[in-house]
Amino acid sequence: MGKNLKQLTNRIYYLPSDPKTDRPILSAICGADQTLIVDAGNSDKHAKLFLNELNQCQITNYHSVVLTHWHWDHSFGTNQMNMLAIAHEKTKMQLEKIMEYEWSDDALDDRVEKGLESRFCSEMIKKEFGIDRNITITLPNITFKEQIDIDLGGVRCVIKHVGGDHSDDSSLIFVEEEKVLFLGDCLYPSLYTQQPQYKIDNVRHLLENIEMFDAEIYVLSHEPPLAKDDFMGYISLLKLICDLTEKHQRNHMNLVNELSTQINRKLSQLEEEIVYCFINGL
Ligand SMILES: [Zn+2]
Repeated sequence: MGKNLKQLTNRIYYLPSDPKTDRPILSAICGADQTLIVDAGNSDKHAKLFLNELNQCQITNYHSVVLTHWHWDHSFGTNQMNMLAIAHEKTKMQLEKIMEYEWSDDALDDRVEKGLESRFCSEMIKKEFGIDRNITITLPNITFKEQIDIDLGGVRCVIKHVGGDHSDDSSLIFVEEEKVLFLGDCLYPSLYTQQPQYKIDNVRHLLENIEMFDAEIYVLSHEPPLAKDDFMGYISLLKLICDLTEKHQRNHMNLVNELSTQINRKLSQLEEEIVYCFINGL
């Protein structure tokens, strides 16, 4: 096996995320007939690294890639992948919008000033691409509205649009036989608002959608894959914070105190941040 590639289940491999330039997890779902790639990577280099690793592992029957959402770190590798690209129709619309953008430092800084680009993404794009900023945005070839099912030969995938605060085009991929659910970034807070935020109704709706799938492993794009118990702990925490935000509204102190009593310990830094996101979303 390549030195970076990891095996998640019998028929799923992945390249772990890399926070240095905000690279998300890239995955390969291997059916008997076809391999489906999940997310295209944040650059030509990232896509190439992943495909090289797959080749070293004798996985070569890949012909299609599905994008979990339009954000640069998931989509800028599409051109290099050179495969049939599948995405939600809103993902395509967003990519069409940013196709005309320039990616020079000046152009990026200008868009950050105008609130069109996130400062974090701008910094990460500069770091990933260096001065040789050869960015070609490629549009998806196949789009869907609600859901699309793909049979890879003994492995069935459901790709379902779920939206959410992070990006309203977000889709998840459920792999029936392997009981794996790829969530992309859909559970993370918004990126293109002044402050990162969660809206109670959006989170509840998203969680209902996620809970329809009976998975054993949950893959969020910017962290190691989670076992069912850990993921369920995360979900119940989000639900609890939804309820407590509804109850206490902007009263941060009461919210934190009751949350801390319910979980029987002080809040972690991540939990503190989640609480702020919910208050920002009110
Ligand atoms: Zn994202």
